[in-house]
Amino acid sequence: MAEKLALVGIGKIARDQHIPAINANPDWSLAAAVSRHAGVDGIDHFQDIDALLENRPDITVVSLAIPPQPRFDYAAKALRAGKHVMLEKPPGQSLAECFTLEQMAKEHGVTLFATWHSRHADNVPALKAFLAERTLKRLKITWKEDVRRWHPGQEWIWEPGGMGVFDPGINALSILTEILPYPVHLTGATLEFPENRATPIAANLDFADPTGAEMSAVFDWRQEGPQTWDIDIETDRGCAKLSLGGERLEIEGAPATQGANHEYANLYARMAELVKTGRSDVDLSPMIHVCDAFSLGRRLTTDAFHF
Ligand code: NAP
Repeated sequence: MAEKLALVGIGKIARDQHIPAINANPDWSLAAAVSRHAGVDGIDHFQDIDALLENRPDITVVSLAIPPQPRFDYAAKALRAGKHVMLEKPPGQSLAECFTLEQMAKEHGVTLFATWHSRHADNVPALKAFLAERTLKRLKITWKEDVRRWHPGQEWIWEPGGMGVFDPGINALSILTEILPYPVHLTGATLEFPENRATPIAANLDFADPTGAEMSAVFDWRQEGPQTWDIDIETDRGCAKLSLGGERLEIEGAPATQGANHEYANLYARMAELVKTGRSDVDLSPMIHVCDAFSLGRRLTTDAFHF
């Protein structure tokens, strides 16, 4: 029987991805929406998580598609009420919040899934397999997009906990930490903060790879025209390029695979499997790199940003 799910935060990503993915999967029934200003046609609607938990005890799973700053309180209430919880990325606004939620899920015997949608792009497993059989020489992440186009009017990304350019950048880091056969760590960073904002608009990151490969990332939110979400890889036996955030993979310049984007379908399939098997999935390694960038990063001030 389909599991009854409540979707919290009916904003951009809920409408673009979550609702279609939930409706397309027979394991799920979208039973309620929680949002202060928006609802979903034909679905029970609540203003906040307290009202949901009080009125719909039949709902077993809560999926949180709100910004990271309010996420901990919503997740903690849902876990305490014995609900399985799915977190949009990033899983919180700080690491300690995520550790606490992980512990709470264990104590209440429920599933917690810290999702990384970019990891579930169809080409990521093929790139991981490519790397598993080769020695990495060089890896360069280039994630450059136009913040006005992708985050119109979203003030929360500029507030503490909103992460600024790391909001998309963490997607690249979630792919990096999935495809590498070993962990790497950040050695230095430069972060550019608009003079009127609390989070960075651009960042350069350098990593230490235990095998000596060169590894770096550049994130920039000021890119107009063509948008770039690429990972370029050189190994001892050939090159690979993942582009469009994971939608396209080329190996030695030839298209390996390209197809529809199933990231959110894959996420909801994974959540169904985790709930059925009574497990959690909380990998915080992408978040650790972001926190290290804020810790190690040299801060530069740049032009004010206005939408
Ligand atoms: P959004 O449209 O700005 O926000 C989603 C909804 O969350 C809002 O519509 C709002 O609904 C609710 N919300 C905002 N602030 C809140 C608060 N303080 N307390 C409670 N609810 C609040 O953002 P989004 O783009 O959907 O992003 C949400 C999350 O998904 C972020 O973590 C983001 O990183 C992730 N994500 C976004 C994208 C994307 O392309 N946009 C892609 C992948 C993942 P109400 O005002 O009606 O309550």
